[in-house]
Amino acid sequence: MRIILLGAPGAGKGTVAKLLSAVDGSVQISTGDILRSAVNQGSDLGKKAKKYMDQGDLVPDSLIMEIMEVRLKEDDCRNGFILDGFPRTIPQAEELANLLDKMDIKLDFVANLEVPRDVILDRLTTRRTCSNPECQEIFNIKSNPPAAGGKCTKCGSPVVQRDDETEEAIINRLEIYNQKTAPLIGFYERSGLLENFISLSSQETVEEIERKLEP
Ligand code: ADP
Ligand code: ZN
Repeated sequence: MRIILLGAPGAGKGTVAKLLSAVDGSVQISTGDILRSAVNQGSDLGKKAKKYMDQGDLVPDSLIMEIMEVRLKEDDCRNGFILDGFPRTIPQAEELANLLDKMDIKLDFVANLEVPRDVILDRLTTRRTCSNPECQEIFNIKSNPPAAGGKCTKCGSPVVQRDDETEEAIINRLEIYNQKTAPLIGFYERSGLLENFISLSSQETVEEIERKLEP
C-alpha cells in the first residue's frame, strides 16, 4: 500500500501505521521517529532539529524534505510505504507531490484520522515512549502500561515521557497542528485523495483502511 496518515498529534497515526505495516510489509516511515533517533545519536540533523522538537515546533521544511527524498528512494519503499507524520505543511505536501510524480509513484489515498480533542489531550498526557531509539514502542499509563519498573515490553529499555509531552508543549503542538497541518485536509480533498476515518480504535481503523484498499 502507499498511503499517508493525517491527523492531530495523539490521533494514533503511529499505532495505525505499525499495524498496517504488519498487514502487507509496507514500511512505516515516521519523520518523528527518524528525528528522535537523530537527536539521540547526536548527529548533525539531530542537533539542528532538537530545539524545534523540544518546544513542540515544526522542524523546517527544507530539513524534512532532505530526509524524505533520500528515505523514499531506499529499496524497502518499493513494496509500499505508510507515511506517518509527513507531510505536515502545505509546502511539504506540494514537494512530496512533485517527488512522487518524478518517481512515477501513485498514492492509494490519504487517511485522515479524526479523533475528538478531549480524547487526544487525554492520550497525549498519558503516553509514554520506549527510550531505545531503535524501538520507540508507544505505551499508555492507563490503557497499555509498560512492564514492571517502567521497562519496555519489547526491548527492556526504560519507558519515558517525551520532552515534547509536557502540558505546555502539547498545547503548542495542537495549536501548530491547527495552523500548519489541518490545511492539508482541504489540500488532499481537492486532489481527490482524502478518505476520512473516525478513529477511536486503532484496530478498527486499520480494518476500515484495509477495506478501502481492496479493489
Ligand atoms: P506527534 O505526531 O505525536 O506530534 P511526531 O513523532 O510525529 O509526533 O513528531 C514529533 C516532532 O518532530 C514534531 O513535534 C516536530 O517537531 C517534528 N516533526 C516530525 N515530523 C515533522 C514534519 N513532517 N515536519 C516538521 N516537523 C516534524
Ligand atoms: Zn523498547
